[in-house]
Amino acid sequence: MTEIIPNEYINSVPGQPQPPADTIKKKYKIDLSLNENAFPPSDKALAAYNNAGPTLNRYPNYTSAELRGVLGKKFGLDDTRIMCTAGSEQMLSFLTRAYVAPGDEVIYPRYGFMIYWFNVMMAGGVPVPVDQDDFVVNVDYILDAVTDKTRVMFLDNPGNPTATYVPYEEIKRLRKHLPQHILLVLDAAYADFVTQDDYNCGFELVDQYDNVVVTRTLSKLYGLSGLRIGWTYLPEKIATTLLHLKGGFNVSTPAQVAGAAAILDEEHALMIRNHSEKWIKHLTDEISALGIIVTPSVCNFILIHFPDGRDAMKEVDSFLKEKDINVGSVGMYKLDSSLRITAGTEEENTALINALKEYYKK
Ligand SMILES: *Cc1c(COP(=O)(O)O)cnc(C)c1O
Repeated sequence: MTEIIPNEYINSVPGQPQPPADTIKKKYKIDLSLNENAFPPSDKALAAYNNAGPTLNRYPNYTSAELRGVLGKKFGLDDTRIMCTAGSEQMLSFLTRAYVAPGDEVIYPRYGFMIYWFNVMMAGGVPVPVDQDDFVVNVDYILDAVTDKTRVMFLDNPGNPTATYVPYEEIKRLRKHLPQHILLVLDAAYADFVTQDDYNCGFELVDQYDNVVVTRTLSKLYGLSGLRIGWTYLPEKIATTLLHLKGGFNVSTPAQVAGAAAILDEEHALMIRNHSEKWIKHLTDEISALGIIVTPSVCNFILIHFPDGRDAMKEVDSFLKEKDINVGSVGMYKLDSSLRITAGTEEENTALINALKEYYKK
């Protein structure tokens, strides 16, 4: 038998066979591991989703026109330069496919979103992770990492798993000093949670330059992870290029209509943001009081660090799992003594805090 071998770049990422369909993955009663919204989506989004049912014999709108219109209006953007995708992850993949050729270097923060590395490897590119100061991106280190071969920079702002952010003045300085042939991708998946005055996701830079794109998602604040809706604001030329990659009907009808309704339900969005902000502060205070280090967060999750090292982290993680609480491992990021914890409902957060207190009293 002849083995069918994928191209060498795809092969550069290690993989495993899919588990059988009947493999039961342990479900935890409290899951705080994936930065998801703990609440169901807004009633208006759910109603729009249900109304789409009888129309499912038809293909969806090719360009997610209604959703683009709603987004354009809400954010004051030119809707011909908004592109919707099946989650923003799909756009991150498109951007890599379109702009990274074998041998091209791609810069991203060392503790930036793992997907960047994955995509760059599969494109035959050279990943260039850049160090951070205390999990905060330092623009000078990024500029120092630029070479003639750099083609793209991915910057998750705020960052995942760090939950820290770069102020807008620094983002503007970065764009100004990055060579203009480098595409700057601002991945603003958590922008909806940020209340700091000096933060801006960068839409104006997209208007001002032809080499900046901003990606957003409805998976986090809007609680629609399961529907897969992301959107990107981008310069006209890049939009034209990516339309080729977008393929046929990448965003389903229920996703388009529920997404539009979710964006319009500002009251629900505000409720989620306020809940998250309140609990992030509370979780930070309570967990710090136990002697665990918490990186200051502007998102709906926190990155925590165990001063006693990897074994302490493992023990706490196991203890939480015994209590049916699942939190995020960040071993993939080589953060061996850290955990990432999403803010849940009041009940879930209280259970987490009580479990941690119980562990430390032992
Ligand atoms: C969650 C997340 C995304 C988006 O995920 P989608 O569900 O594909 O929209 C993108 N970037 C970062 C940094 C994230 O944490």
